[in-house]
Amino acid sequence: MSELQQLRVNGERLWDSIMAIAEFGPGEQGGSCRLALTDEDRQARDLFIRWCEQIGCSVSIDDMGNIFARRDGRNNDLAPIVAGSHLDTQPHGGKFDGIYGVLAALEAIRTLHDNNVTTEAPVEVVVWTNEEGSRFAPAMIASGVYAGLFEKEFAWSISDSDGKTLGDELRRIGYMGDIACGDHAIGALLEAHIEQGPILEADNHQIGVVIGGQGQHWYDLTLKGQDSHAGSTPMPGRRDALVAAADVISMVQGLALDFAPGAVATVGEMSVMPNSRNTIPGEVVLSIDIRNPDEQVLTDMDAQIRSRVAAIVDKHSVEAELEEIWDKPPVKFDPACIAAVSSATNALGYSNQQMVSGAGHDACQVCMVAPTSMIFVPCAGGLSHNEQESAELVDLEAGCNVLMHAMLTLANR
Ligand SMILES: [Zn+2]
Repeated sequence: MSELQQLRVNGERLWDSIMAIAEFGPGEQGGSCRLALTDEDRQARDLFIRWCEQIGCSVSIDDMGNIFARRDGRNNDLAPIVAGSHLDTQPHGGKFDGIYGVLAALEAIRTLHDNNVTTEAPVEVVVWTNEEGSRFAPAMIASGVYAGLFEKEFAWSISDSDGKTLGDELRRIGYMGDIACGDHAIGALLEAHIEQGPILEADNHQIGVVIGGQGQHWYDLTLKGQDSHAGSTPMPGRRDALVAAADVISMVQGLALDFAPGAVATVGEMSVMPNSRNTIPGEVVLSIDIRNPDEQVLTDMDAQIRSRVAAIVDKHSVEAELEEIWDKPPVKFDPACIAAVSSATNALGYSNQQMVSGAGHDACQVCMVAPTSMIFVPCAGGLSHNEQESAELVDLEAGCNVLMHAMLTLANR
């Protein structure tokens, strides 16, 4: 085995760094509340940059507040091999979602620094701004601007519930950088992340080699019946939009089960008009969310939704307007990046499986413009976006070793 192959990260140091970042914006239940571009986010960013500078990295910031910390390679004309994630959290978030990916990348570079390993291409850690989207919607906006999916002026203009804009808050905390977002080259991007689902834990695997992300379709469905008196209108002949909606909710659940495994479908939002206890509901608007890694399955599910809604409408004598409001095709990660992760995992001897990401991530945006893949590690009970979110040091360390060796493979090719 070569000296390079024997290189291992320091799991304790990685753990301590995660806990140090968690000091900024602690949650009430032991997790984290560090919304994007708050003072707590600034403090976490400042400490991260201090750590990077301590090991000789040069730091640059773009005008979406994305941070790139660079360790030079032998050939600095090559585009850097970049790894990272996000430091912001949900209001009731955990200590690991996002933070792990940033600090695993930092730990990888710290290990290279400790061992005087110089890569051919430069290596970098990235922190993406506002991944969570809980203060400034939509989520993954800064990686989205990087990938050309959103206009920067739009991103700067979105405001939080107090009317403060993302652009003003970037300036206020001192993270409106001078590089145009998207101009900083990325040779390849790797993102390590907790799984945020139960599959690795259930299958007793330490590493998920992520090959892509799910596609999703979002719909608004309006059902129109007729308002009428709850006491004097006999049951036959009613045009109750809410009873029709109940059938739609069951239909959506059944649809996902019909396309099992791998399909999910959800009604998560509903408004009932006039929402009065003694009036038969004349109108209901509800959301439908369907996801699957396969575009053809999504197309088939779409056709099924349309025909099943038509049948429900018929049965309840109501009318329906089904509007598709968003269509995100499935994401396929780069074969060379997947291979780098997969061979690092196998060389390190970690039990693993290939999987598709159920959640959205910055990597799923950036993969539109740069070769990308992801590494998942288990989290307890698959729980995330919850203060109880937790992960084991041994798994975090394993994912970090995989990340470092995949970075080495890509940087030295
Ligand atoms: Zn995340």
